[in-house]
Amino acid sequence: MYTQCSNCGAVFRVNMKELTVAQGQLRCGECDEIFNAMDTLSTTLPKNKNFVDSNEELIDPDVLTPQYSYTKSNKKSSFFQLLAVLILLLLLVAQFLYTNKHWFNNTVKRSPEKIHMISRNIISHPNNSGVLLISASIENQADYAQPYPYVEITLLDDKKNKIALRRFKPEEYLQHYSKNDLLQPKKQASLQLTISDPGKKATRFNFQFM
Ligand SMILES: [Zn+2]
Repeated sequence: MYTQCSNCGAVFRVNMKELTVAQGQLRCGECDEIFNAMDTLSTTLPKNKNFVDSNEELIDPDVLTPQYSYTKSNKKSSFFQLLAVLILLLLLVAQFLYTNKHWFNNTVKRSPEKIHMISRNIISHPNNSGVLLISASIENQADYAQPYPYVEITLLDDKKNKIALRRFKPEEYLQHYSKNDLLQPKKQASLQLTISDPGKKATRFNFQFM
């Protein structure tokens, strides 16, 4: 038996089994139109100038896929569902990155050589004897924000021999420091730290930022 696409006129050879499975709905292998094969069902080759007297022009029945008419819209809605899921995933990733942005501060460039000492003052602690009070101002001379440096203080005797060495973290020398705070470009910060007085042997101090 033969049927003809209602849209483009392509002619197909069909059998009853295919038509039963598809409930008469066929998808045209030429133009994708879903049409009711029953409308043009005939036992003879329909008259169509494209296919006249030519069996070779017949579309192989294998290209005919039985289609229920809702199949197309089904595909469309699953595409939109997938799109919606993708958008939600992107939003989740964006939110995650935003709420965890401090993680990326760890990768902020550290340039301790661009941190300069502006002033410093070392006195005996007014309340605790045997303790030295060191205060200093540092400035970030880089043109970008960077993490507060580690401050290394070396105590030297008059022959420049090292007597002691201590390293301070930002939370140890800053009054108000929260994790991942940055020293802004061209901005100064005040250091304040205490070390035990090494006695008269120590005559020099060396500051180093790292
Ligand atoms: Zn067609």
